[in-house]
Amino acid sequence: MVIEKRTFISFDEPCYYQCKHCYTYGIKRDKYRTIDEIIDDISNEAFDIIYVSQKNDNFSDPDKGLTLCYKAFERYESHLFIITRNVFNSNQIKNLCELKKKMNSIGKQLFFAVSINSYNSNYLCEDVTRVHTPEERIEFIKQLSDNGIKPILMLRPVFPNYIIPIQECLTIIDKTYKSISCVISSELGVNDDVLNRLQINENEFDYLETKEYLDGAIDCDIKFINVAEELCMIDKKCRNNGVRCFSHSIPAINYVLNKS
Ligand code: SF4
Repeated sequence: MVIEKRTFISFDEPCYYQCKHCYTYGIKRDKYRTIDEIIDDISNEAFDIIYVSQKNDNFSDPDKGLTLCYKAFERYESHLFIITRNVFNSNQIKNLCELKKKMNSIGKQLFFAVSINSYNSNYLCEDVTRVHTPEERIEFIKQLSDNGIKPILMLRPVFPNYIIPIQECLTIIDKTYKSISCVISSELGVNDDVLNRLQINENEFDYLETKEYLDGAIDCDIKFINVAEELCMIDKKCRNNGVRCFSHSIPAINYVLNKS
């Protein structure tokens, strides 16, 4: 079985975490839908997997995010892909494991990704008063793994080395590789707003010609900074630790699916 077609569900409220590198700020949010309305809105789509991700970290309130997942699964019986930079408590981990069990019983998978893209420099791109520390997220990865959910490490966006030293990403891999199923890593995408929030100058970088990560996910104008050397170092570190590294989520998900 191959997972090809994805769809997205997300709460409409602006994200609590307010990361400086985030490009969801410009998304139009005309209406704040209920969970039932969010789920209804994909009823005419064909898909293999639902990404619980798009305009928001849907798990800044994990109980609310888990309700969204439970309801989406009950309605569509589809694979789910969760992405968060939050940390769950033991009850929430238990609920997550129960959902996974339910899904596995009909041959569906719960893919769970934890976002961390820096270690000591996270204050440069995250609001540290709102987000758990990288070390706490690393600990969460280990807890998930101990509970039978080997998460994907979402090591992105990768910044140019002189802004966030690449060694920080390598440290995160060293600290998590035994507990993760794979790594997804890709470059920083920017528009004028992101550049302003990060207080970096557009002309300091080379940019990639095209990148299709956001196709179907978000309709916004983003260009990606060329951090090929940094990504090479991440890939090498992953290979040395026996972990696969992907730049796109769909190949990563299929890799985990085939391993499981
Ligand atoms: S947690 Fe995700 S959606 Fe929320 S502000 Fe940060 S990057 Fe954006």
